[in-house]
Amino acid sequence: MRVLTLPVGNLGTNCYIVVHNNDAAVVDPGADVNSIVAALAGEQVTPSSILLTHGHADHVAAAAALRRLTGCSIIAHPADGYLLRATDNEIARLLGLTEAVVPDMELADAATVNLAGIEFTVLATPGHTPGSCCFYSATEQVLFAGDTLFRGSIGRSDLPGGNHKTLLRSLGRLKQLPAEVEVYPGHGPITTIGRERMSNRYW
Ligand SMILES: [Zn+2]
Ligand SMILES: [Zn+2]
Repeated sequence: MRVLTLPVGNLGTNCYIVVHNNDAAVVDPGADVNSIVAALAGEQVTPSSILLTHGHADHVAAAAALRRLTGCSIIAHPADGYLLRATDNEIARLLGLTEAVVPDMELADAATVNLAGIEFTVLATPGHTPGSCCFYSATEQVLFAGDTLFRGSIGRSDLPGGNHKTLLRSLGRLKQLPAEVEVYPGHGPITTIGRERMSNRYW
C-alpha cells in the first residue's frame, strides 16, 4: 500500500490517495478536483471509493465532482449528513461546497471498509463533528484520523456540532492503538500514535 498526500484548498486539507495493486481510494477530496484527478492519472489508477472522515466542506467539497468523473462511490457517516447538505452555509460555500454530497453508503462504528483492497476498521470518533470517523488498518498499521488527532494537537470542538467531552472520549479510544501506528491527519504532517502519546499535551 502506498499513500499519496495532496494538500488541497484554502485550508491545506490533506487529501489522501491510497494506492494498492492497481486499485485506489481517496480519503477527503476537499477541493482541487483537477489535481486529484491528475494525481490518480499519474498513478494510472481509477478510485473505487471516496471515504469522508467527516462532513466539513474543506474535506468533502470535491467529492461529488470526483464521483462524476470516476464513477466511484462515496462513503460517509450519516451523523454528518447535515454538513454534506450545507450548501446554504456561507463558510461552506466559500470552501467550495456548492453542491450537496449524497453518500452511496453509510459508515458505522466497527464496520469494515475497503480502501483499494485493504480492510480498514471504522472507528466512530465524534467530537469534532457528530459523524467524525477514523479509519484503521491493523495489517498496515495506519490510521486516517481526519480532524480528530493532529501532530501535536487535537481537533477543534468549538464549531457547531462539536463537543469537547465527546472528543476526549474518542481520543481515549485512539490511545489504545499500538504505538507504531502511523497517523495521517486531516491537516499538517503525519505522526505516530506513540509520538503523540509522548508529546501531545492536549491528549
Ligand atoms: Zn473539520
Ligand atoms: Zn479540516
